[in-house]
Amino acid sequence: MADSLDKEQVRTVLLAACQAIIDAKEELGEADRATGDGDHGQGMANGFGAGQEALGTAELGTVGDAFKTVGSAVIGTSGGASGVIFGTMFRAPAKVLKSEVLDAEGYAQALEVAAEQVSTRGKAQRGHKTMLDALIPAAEAARAAVGDGLEATARAAAEAAEQGSAETADMIATFGRAKSLGERARGHRDPGSISVSILLATIADGIAQA
Ligand code: ADP
Ligand code: MG
Repeated sequence: MADSLDKEQVRTVLLAACQAIIDAKEELGEADRATGDGDHGQGMANGFGAGQEALGTAELGTVGDAFKTVGSAVIGTSGGASGVIFGTMFRAPAKVLKSEVLDAEGYAQALEVAAEQVSTRGKAQRGHKTMLDALIPAAEAARAAVGDGLEATARAAAEAAEQGSAETADMIATFGRAKSLGERARGHRDPGSISVSILLATIADGIAQA
């Protein structure tokens, strides 16, 4: 258990998060076929595949550079809404992660700024059946756990994201393509929220192993 990660450990953790999205391509595509147009798995796999490739060789001055490298690659390659949304989620933390270590406070701030920026860019809020229904509770849980150290903060965020994602099954979409489904989207989780849960769970596992 580490109370902080250096930038090379952050690189390793984020490479694993990219791989987890690539591995979940079928599951994410299936979820988007139920509520949207079915492209979420492919789009995310393309984006995070490019993120993984870029991060593998990137020069890292700060921990934030690792997040930004992934986010920029995702914006550049992942089509659809998720390119901008998940690219923003990973680019936003560079504004606050300006040192060479990641600690609990930094991770909580990273999730807070990610949620803020995604909401500003996409104009969605909590309850709209989007990935924000996982990301906002994750940021809140991270803030509440910050005094318990990095590993506990990351685990709390991952658990809140998974619970928030599960709760999207009861919501009607008002944003993105799923909104045209209206009531028919009920009973199905929002695909982007599943992606957030997978990303934050893999980051928490990586931090625990560092
Ligand atoms: P598209 O909607 O263009 O087909 P994807 O299927 O890849 O793109 O991604 C859909 C996911 O993007 C949704 O499940 C949702 O979580 C997320 N999303 C879409 N629009 C928004 C938005 N305005 N704010 C936050 N997340 C959004
Ligand atoms: Mg889609």
